[in-house]
Amino acid sequence: VVIEDEKGIRRFLQAGMPSEDFEWNESECGEDGIRKVANVNPDVVLLDLGLPDIDGLTVISRLREWTQVPIIVLTARGRDQDKVAALDAGADDYLTKPFSLAELSARIRVSLRHSKKGAEAQPIYDSGGLLIDFGRRSVAVDGREVRLTPTEYSVLCALAKHPGRVLTHAQLLDAVWGPGNIESTHTIRVHMAGIRQKIESDPSHPRFIRTETGVGYRLMGA
Ligand code: CA
Repeated sequence: VVIEDEKGIRRFLQAGMPSEDFEWNESECGEDGIRKVANVNPDVVLLDLGLPDIDGLTVISRLREWTQVPIIVLTARGRDQDKVAALDAGADDYLTKPFSLAELSARIRVSLRHSKKGAEAQPIYDSGGLLIDFGRRSVAVDGREVRLTPTEYSVLCALAKHPGRVLTHAQLLDAVWGPGNIESTHTIRVHMAGIRQKIESDPSHPRFIRTETGVGYRLMGA
């Protein structure tokens, strides 16, 4: 289901994504979009934040009252606070306009894989040279064991539970220090620097953990 009031974007999606792979349902406003999601039970929702009737953030909260369908938000450039608010409200990811069809299909693939796996626990994360054995609490890069502090390990695990997806600073803080914590994004930055020192061969050009400026972090691969 695409909830987007810009006709140009809806046309772009229709034209670019093969109709044999995707069955589109479109909506120009939030209320109608929510009804469409309820009616067709889609695999993924693409949601514009600026809608003519209700705010996209409201759409996310209303959907999250009853469905875990993946929601990918479409946002205008430079609105970092919008992206953070959307992710914290329960969106799975975002795309900044103008986006390419390649980016869109990559994000849709990650969301679909994530929703299919559901909450099913994976005993091992193994992708692109990074191996995390959750049972042994061990981390290895290119076959070489890496020693992380307990906090660094928790931060890395939080990211590895959602490979390919961005986690906001608030989501990471909640995952590691628990809801209601009083830590700041500075704490995350400090531990992230420690992790990168140990797992990245060139911490200024990270191979595993990408910084999403103003938003949070994303573990690449998987
Ligand atoms: Ca709009």
